[in-house]
Amino acid sequence: MQTEVVLGIGGNKGDRAAFLQKAMEALSQQAMLVGHSQIYETEVWGGVATAGNFLNQVLLLHTQMDPMELLEVIQGIEVQLGRTREQHWGDRTIDIDILYFGDQVWDSPSLTIPHPYLAQRSFVLQPLAEILPKKIHPILGKTTLELLAECTDQGQVSVWKQAN
Ligand code: AMP
Repeated sequence: MQTEVVLGIGGNKGDRAAFLQKAMEALSQQAMLVGHSQIYETEVWGGVATAGNFLNQVLLLHTQMDPMELLEVIQGIEVQLGRTREQHWGDRTIDIDILYFGDQVWDSPSLTIPHPYLAQRSFVLQPLAEILPKKIHPILGKTTLELLAECTDQGQVSVWKQAN
């Protein structure tokens, strides 16, 4: 059975766009890439990172994996692309988050779906609104556009450049 999965990818270290591209390529070898947002540039969030602004993008994939298998795959790609975990919310070459896994709700020590900060981050909601404006959050019962309208995140988010 294919599930529609939404991932958020981002990074603020090194050649940021190249890391997004590499992450997208690596993911599309493991699942079927069916859509993506433009790339957005985002002010640092969380107050720890120092390397500069993040680039963020949202990807839509179809997969036969289950959520834990997908988590393993994305963590493998993060390591492959040089992600280190020195500091939570610190600088990173690439961070890959599972935002939605179909309409499933998942809560285990290593995985929470929908992603717990999804509704609080405009750098997630803006690209998500571009590709899935009407998707309904399975817990909050609101569309992406409704969540975006209610989001109080003040961080500046703007389109960085048209993705290929
Ligand atoms: P971070 O440092 O923000 O990338 O957090 C990574 C950790 O969050 C990993 O160890 C995952 O087990 C955990 N995690 C929980 N829920 C999710 C999710 N929806 N997507 C990705 N990682 C998650």
